Amino acid sequence: MAANQNKTAIVVGAGIVGVSSAYMLQKAGFSVTLVDRVGPCSGTSYGNAGAIVVDGCVPNSMPGILKDIPSMLFDATGPLTVRWSHLAKATPWLLRFMMEAREERVRHNAKFLYQITKHAGRDWSRLMKSLKLDDLMKDVGWLKVYESDEGFAQTLEARELMSEVGCPFDILDATDIQDLEPNLNAIFKHGIFQKKSRFLLNPEKVVHGIADAFKHIGGQIEIAEISTVSEMEAGVVAKGNGKEFKADKLVIAAGAWSKILADQFGANVLLDAERGYHMMLPALEDKTISRPIVYGEKSFVLAPMERGIRMTSQVEIAGLERGPDFRRIRKLLPLAKRMLPTLNTQEQDVWLGHRPSTPDSLPIIGCSPKSKNVIFAFGHQHYGMTMGPTTARIVRDIALGKEDTIELWPYRADRF
Ligand SMILES: Cc1cc2nc3c(=O)[nH]c(=O)nc-3n(C[C@H](O)[C@H](O)[C@H](O)COP(=O)(O)OP(=O)(O)OC[C@H]3O[C@@H](n4cnc5c(N)ncnc54)[C@H](O)[C@@H]3O)c2cc1C
Repeated sequence: MAANQNKTAIVVGAGIVGVSSAYMLQKAGFSVTLVDRVGPCSGTSYGNAGAIVVDGCVPNSMPGILKDIPSMLFDATGPLTVRWSHLAKATPWLLRFMMEAREERVRHNAKFLYQITKHAGRDWSRLMKSLKLDDLMKDVGWLKVYESDEGFAQTLEARELMSEVGCPFDILDATDIQDLEPNLNAIFKHGIFQKKSRFLLNPEKVVHGIADAFKHIGGQIEIAEISTVSEMEAGVVAKGNGKEFKADKLVIAAGAWSKILADQFGANVLLDAERGYHMMLPALEDKTISRPIVYGEKSFVLAPMERGIRMTSQVEIAGLERGPDFRRIRKLLPLAKRMLPTLNTQEQDVWLGHRPSTPDSLPIIGCSPKSKNVIFAFGHQHYGMTMGPTTARIVRDIALGKEDTIELWPYRADRF
C-alpha cells in the first residue's frame, strides 16, 4: 500500500462501476478524483431491478437470434426493438451480435461471463459488510417463472449452456414456485431458480452509500462532463466544462457513454446502449413478493424495492440521444397484474436507462491498447450491478500492477 501513497487516479463516471472502482483505489492508497457530469448514480445504476445474478452466464446473443430480426425491426413495442433511425449506426454492432450466436462463441462468452459473476456474491458481501450497508442486500435468489410448457422449453439451450459452464440452478415446479412466492398467480408451471443470487432493495441508496464511504476516506467528487482524455509525458489528463484533471492513472467507467472517451485511446470499441425502462408502483403492505421475479414469456421483472414494486423491461436499440417511449413499459401493466394479482397498478414514476452493451455480452476491462495508465471498465450490459464490485477489484489490481488472478484477455478492448 505504501508504494501507492503518492499515486493519483481519475475515475470518469460515478455509476456502480466507477463508484466502486474509486472506493477500492482510494482504499489501496491512491488519491482518487471521481468525475461525473451529474453526480453519483445519475445513469443506469439508478433504476435497474437490483438483482445480483451470482453465476449468471447466459449471453444475450444465443443461437436462433436470426429468427427474431423481423420482430426487432417491425414491432416498435416488442420486447426487443431496433429503431430504424439508429439502424445504420448500429449495423456493425448488430452484425457482430449475430456472429456471437455461433455455438463456439456462445460457449466462450458464457464461460467468461461466469468467470466474473461467480465472484459477485463474495465481492458484494464484503463491500456491503465493510460499509455497514448489509441491510440493503437480501439473500433471496433470482427466480424466472414460466406459464407454458412451450415458454419453458424455449429455455432449454440456456439451461444446457448453464449446466455445461457449471452455473448452478434449480428447476422448480408449480408447487415449489407457490412455496417460494405464495402471492404469485398460480398460473406458473415452471421456474428456474439461482439461489445464490442477491437482491439490492435500493440500488440508488447503495451507490450513494459507496460514494459517501469513498468521500469519507478522502476521495474527491467533481462535477464535469469530460470531453477529452489524453496522455501526458507522465500520466494522463481529462478535460471538460473548463476543468482539467491530471493523474497517474485514468479509469474510464462512463457506462454506455464510454465509447467517445475510449476511442481517444485508439480502442474503437463496439459499444451500444440496450435501452430499458422501469415503472415504479406502490409498495404492498402484505401479499407481496419477496425477490425479483422474471415473467419468462413476457420478458419483464417485478422487484419488491424499498420504495415500491419496480417493473423493469425492454431492450431498445435506439442510441443515446433519442427520448423515451414509455408506452413500451406501460403496455405491460395488465400482464404484471396477471402475474401478481394484488399489485396496485397506480403508476408512481417511469424511467429510461441505457445498458452499456457489447455484442458478445462481455464487459471491457483492462488497459487501453495505447496506454497502461488508462484502464477501461465498461460494457457490463444487463449485469452491471452484479459485476460492479468484482470489476472494481480487477481495476484496482491492474492499477497496482498486481498479477491477474483471472484471465483478462477475453475482456480486452481490441477484441472486435
Ligand atoms: C431496466 C434495467 C434493468 C436492469 N436490471 C439489472 C439487474 O437487475 N441486475 C444487474 O446486474 N444489472 C441490471 N441492469 C444493468 C445495470 O443497471 C447496468 O449495467 C449498470 O448500471 C451500468 O453501470 P455503469 O457504472 O457502467 O454505468 P452508469 O450507471 O450508467 O454510470 C455511468 C456514469 O457516467 C457518467 N458519465 C457519462 N459520460 C460522462 C462524461 N463524459 N463525463 C463525466 N461523466 C460521465 C454518467 O452521468 C453516469 O453517472 C439493468 C439495466 C436496466 C436499464
